[in-house]
Amino acid sequence: MLGRNTWKTSAFSLVEQMWVPLWSRSMRPGRWCSQHSCARRTSNNTLHPLWTGPVSVPGGTRQSPINIQWRDSVYDPRLKPLRVSYDAASCLYVWNTGYLFQVEFDDATEVSGISGGPLENHYRLKQFHFHWGAENEGGSEHTVDGHAYPAELHLVHWNSVKYQNYKEAVVGENGLAVIGVFLKLGAHHQTLQRLVDILPEIKHKDARAAMPPFDPSTLLPTCWDYWTYAGSLTTPPLTESATWIIQKEPVEVAPSQLSAFRTLLFSALGEEEKMMVNNYRPLQPLMNRKVWASFQATNEGTRS
Ligand SMILES: [Zn+2]
Repeated sequence: MLGRNTWKTSAFSLVEQMWVPLWSRSMRPGRWCSQHSCARRTSNNTLHPLWTGPVSVPGGTRQSPINIQWRDSVYDPRLKPLRVSYDAASCLYVWNTGYLFQVEFDDATEVSGISGGPLENHYRLKQFHFHWGAENEGGSEHTVDGHAYPAELHLVHWNSVKYQNYKEAVVGENGLAVIGVFLKLGAHHQTLQRLVDILPEIKHKDARAAMPPFDPSTLLPTCWDYWTYAGSLTTPPLTESATWIIQKEPVEVAPSQLSAFRTLLFSALGEEEKMMVNNYRPLQPLMNRKVWASFQATNEGTRS
């Protein structure tokens, strides 16, 4: 059978040896899995190939994602509003990475990027992608007071003042800034639908489709209150170069739109079909970190 041996069992993988001690300490209320990506659960207990290689930051101290404890986050009045400016024309294409789907942007110029907020420099938009669950009960990487949303959007930017390119920034101090947006079930999302309509073209791993101009700021919530903390990439190489900016307010998407995400496959054409679901990394310990809030908690613990 094609594809059967391409996913190794995890028992002796280098990644597992390095990361189990960390992961086993992390608790995710209401979640079954505690290691790697939760994608393993739906793949006959085998590990997604993404997680079988060595990691470049063994034993990290600022890993992502984390659970944001609303009450423990600290309001910082010095945190300015985030400045977001995206040029729809810099959108290049959308592709199935074999782990999630990702929309790539032309980052040769400054036209699409962010600054302000907790950032000291301008960061260029490189790509955005989503993480989601097999069921609506979970799928986001970050959680708020132990609550997981069904999906999470990540807009990944790199520091073009300190670094020459994305590759350098990934491994550099203050190299990346990632905006996280929670998705919750509700009203149909008009601009997300433009993406959803393209998904059938990128069902299989490595499939790519052209994108018409697309402004990802249309995927941001109306309220721009955010939490920010120092973290890492949530996929290998897991480098600890990311400033996370997690939007407090989730955006609403229709159940059918989320279902469309689940029609994608981890597998390539001709391989045994594996549903692309649960492509989120489990929670990591907060360790010696603080989560800062750009807003004062007037309705403490109230989740929208
Ligand atoms: Zn992500």
